[in-house]
Formats: sequence, structure tokens, C-alpha cells
Amino acid sequence: MTKFNTKLIHSQSQHDNQTGAVNVPIYTSTTYAFPSVADKSTWDYSRSGNPTRDYLENQVAALENGAHGFAFSSGMAAIHAVLAIFKPGDHILVSDTIYGGTFRLINDFFKRWQLEFTEVDTQDLQAVRAAIRPNTKAIYFETFSNPLLKVTSVKAIAKIAHDHDLLTIVDNTFLTPYLQRPLDLGADLVIHSATKYLGGHSDVIAGIVVTKTDALAEQIYFNQNGIGGVLSPEDANLVRRGIQTLGVRLDRHLSNASKIVEFLESRDEIAKVYYPGIVGTPDHEIAKDETDGYGGIVSFDLRPGLDSTKFVEGLHLILLAESLGAVESLIELPYKMTHAELSEPEQLKAGITHQLVRLSVGLEDADDLIADLKQGLDQVAQA
Ligand SMILES: *Cc1c(COP(=O)(O)O)cnc(C)c1O
Repeated sequence: MTKFNTKLIHSQSQHDNQTGAVNVPIYTSTTYAFPSVADKSTWDYSRSGNPTRDYLENQVAALENGAHGFAFSSGMAAIHAVLAIFKPGDHILVSDTIYGGTFRLINDFFKRWQLEFTEVDTQDLQAVRAAIRPNTKAIYFETFSNPLLKVTSVKAIAKIAHDHDLLTIVDNTFLTPYLQRPLDLGADLVIHSATKYLGGHSDVIAGIVVTKTDALAEQIYFNQNGIGGVLSPEDANLVRRGIQTLGVRLDRHLSNASKIVEFLESRDEIAKVYYPGIVGTPDHEIAKDETDGYGGIVSFDLRPGLDSTKFVEGLHLILLAESLGAVESLIELPYKMTHAELSEPEQLKAGITHQLVRLSVGLEDADDLIADLKQGLDQVAQA
């Protein structure tokens, strides 16, 4: 088998045309002619299957070492299709630090359909075991939490899940298959917001699900086709293209992130840096064992008394914006932006203070990013 970077480019051969095109065409046709009434060709209608989307789905399945991939119109549509395999009365354990939109989908949508959820700290394996009930069917989490980058062990959770006949579901948006392949570590379903690193250019909203087994693939396919949140062929092409440069982009994200961590740790204005690459924590030990790198997101607390709003608004190069995982560096204040839906007590419980800053490190020159952070810190330090 070829190595990972080769797989990024060549996992699927492009052989469905007579032109010699090296890339799969964007098939815009919504419908496909039947050779005869009795036998349809592979394709019949584009919600049910589209050659461009299919290419992307196979591409991601190969990278995650899964049985089948499925592409959706957003990360949320992908998560919806996964949670919709369960039935009323089923109970699912969810990490207490998952993406805010996932909490909204759970609390304001799926609970109305009698799915039961318990939030649990997935770093606390005792607590996970204790929360399992007779009707529990799955454990759902993100390996690196947002925004504090707490690390959950896929191996440990998958072991507990297997002991109790539960599915392990991992949202792998922050790491991507370049840095972690949860199915290899025992997970059953992997989800991506492909809007982030897989797309990588802040120009497409998309979601992916990869299953470990054919049986799970049948259930996800039923929901993809039946609920209908499919990715368009144009957007499938953008994600396909983004994935081809995933390795080179992630290498730069990683090296920039580690330089920025080193810089932040040298500054008096910073009270604490959150990054799983920092040695000496249990998070680092898990990440070292189960990932091939510590990601491109760095969070940090400004020292009490320093004005976090002034700091993020005073940057020139780094953009003040939500989202993450793209070529440009983005900074934000979780308490006011990505995590504003949490009440203040919930924020504090999650460690999200007004001093907390989340930085999605982009692909610019590290020296320029550090110079921008430095002038921003100098400004707030002087105030
Ligand atoms: C952004 C994000 C989502 C939601 O994806 P969309 O593409 O915005 O619908 C889900 N999980 C994580 C971890 C995310 O960062």
C-alpha cells in the first residue's frame, strides 16, 4: 500500500472519461439515462449518487481506512445523519465539550424525538463507565476539545464501548486523517466538518461521515439519501481538491503552531497556553501515543486585567473571525463568539473565561504571525 501523502493524491484512479483528464469531472446532471427499463446503470438520480461526490466519498474512506464515506452539505448535516441511525429510547453518551452546534442539535432537536443523552467528561474513564445504562448505544466525542484542546483517548473509549457493545463515534474535524485515524484506534464512525481542514480554504461548507463497516454504511446511506443533505458536485470537487494538499498544509500548520506556542510561552502577558504539544501533561501523553501531530489550533489565557477585546481587535494580519482550519490565521474570543450560546456559569465550568483567546494558525510566514501577535500584546500591555 502507498504511504499517506501519496494516498492523498492517488487513492482513487480517475478512469470514467475518454479525455485523459487527470481529475474527476464535475457531473452536474441530476438524472441518468437507463439502458432499459429493467436495468439501470450505476447512477439514476444525483441525491442517491453522483460520480463527483462518489469520488470524494471514496477518497476520504481510503484516508480514514474505512469501508465507506458519505459527503453532506455541512458538518451539521453529517452529524444529523449519524445521530438519525438511533431510535426513540436509545441513550448516547456525549462528551461535555463537543462543538456547540452539536449540542444544539442534540438538545433542541433529537431530544424532541426521544433520544436520550448524557454529557460526560470523556477524559474521565470512570465517569464514562458509570454513565452507561442498559439502553446506551454509543459514545460520541471529539479527540481534541474546543477551545481548550483537552485530549480524549480514542483507544480507551473504544475499549469501554466494545466491552458494552456500544458504537464509538469520533468527530475528527480538528485532527483530520493526516494526524489521526480513529477507525484504526477502534472507532466505528468518523465525522468531519470538511468546512475546516479538509476543504482548507474557507470557501466551502461540507461534511463527511466514514464508517468502519458495511452494515453501518447501509444505515448512513439510507439517511443520506432519505433525509437528503447531500453535498453538491461543485462543492464535492472543492473538498476533493483541498484534500490533495492536506499533508503539505498540515505540516505548515504544525510548524507554525509550535513556533507560536514557543513565542506565547515566552511572554509575560500570557497566563497559560493550551496546546497538546506542550509536554508534561496527561493530554500530551495521549496525543503523543494516538496522533501524528498536535494540530493547528492554539488557545491561551491573557493575564487577568489585560483587555482581550483590545488585543484581538488590534491585530493587523490575523483576522478576527470564527471557523478554523484554513490557509489564513483566524483569532476569536470564545466567550463572546464561538461559545456565546453557553451561559456564563457553563462557560466558567468549561474553562472559558473572558481572557481566553483561540487562534487557528494559518499558513503565513511564522515570523509575520509572531510579529503581529507581539505588537498586539505590546499594545494591551501598555494600556
Ligand atoms: C465546524 C464544526 C462542526 C460543524 O460543521 P459545519 O460544516 O459548520 O456544519 C462540527 N464539529 C466541529 C468540531 C466543528 O469544528
